[in-house]
Amino acid sequence: CGYIGLVGRPNVGKSTLLNRLLGMKLSIVSRRPQTTRNSILGVQTRDDTQFIYVDTPGLHGRQKKALNRYLNRSAVTALRDVDVVVMLVEPQRWTDDDELVLEHLRQLDRPVIAVVNKVDLIPHKEELLPFLEELAGRYPFREIIPLSAEKGQNVEPLEEVIRGYLPESV
Ligand code: GDP
Repeated sequence: CGYIGLVGRPNVGKSTLLNRLLGMKLSIVSRRPQTTRNSILGVQTRDDTQFIYVDTPGLHGRQKKALNRYLNRSAVTALRDVDVVVMLVEPQRWTDDDELVLEHLRQLDRPVIAVVNKVDLIPHKEELLPFLEELAGRYPFREIIPLSAEKGQNVEPLEEVIRGYLPESV
């Protein structure tokens, strides 16, 4: 059992990773959209692990400030009680939207694991190193894990790390 938050700007690979994690050991027993905009999705699995999936509310149509404030609050509220947050980013690409996601996370006092997704697009892995260092300087992430959700590369180590934060393994 436990609660896992999955966050990141749109298109970073959250649903691909979610499916990958669910496909490994867990199976979905219910999907319940928690907002009408589908920006927050709870997935409950058979072993009672809950994934709280947040598609970074507030990043869509930033001109609508009041709505954004509301969505930001809902996102932060949804994540308040998770055991661990997984924040996805793309290699070599830190954007204002990623910074906004991080702002949400700074409001929480939860352990955060950074996932650098889509590393299959980087042919020479050593090219990643400066980006990983830069990322480590942005926030006290508990771990930084490069992986490819689509190709299934390095996903198991992430699962191991996540398990370490769930109540049953303490
Ligand atoms: P979300 O909006 O954060 O849920 O992102 P999606 O999971 O929908 O993925 C966005 C796009 O990135 C899709 O076209 C995916 O096929 C692609 N994608 C996701 N993970 C990877 C990956 O590990 N490698 C590559 N090359 N593409 C990926």
